[in-house]
Amino acid sequence: MSVHGTKFTCAEVSCQTKFYDMNKESPVCPKCGLVVVIPKARKRGAGDEALKAKRKKWQ
Ligand SMILES: [Zn+2]
Repeated sequence: MSVHGTKFTCAEVSCQTKFYDMNKESPVCPKCGLVVVIPKARKRGAGDEALKAKRKKWQ
């Protein structure tokens, strides 16, 4: 697993900073401080698999 965690793009339109969550549950944009809200998809199913695939892609 990458030490940087998952890559995110800030949801703030005027920011759009790309950053890594550093494996934290609530990643915060280092530039504007916006907290990224991650959907709670802990149920076993397609959604969870999709999340795993997304994480793998950035490692
Ligand atoms: Zn930001």
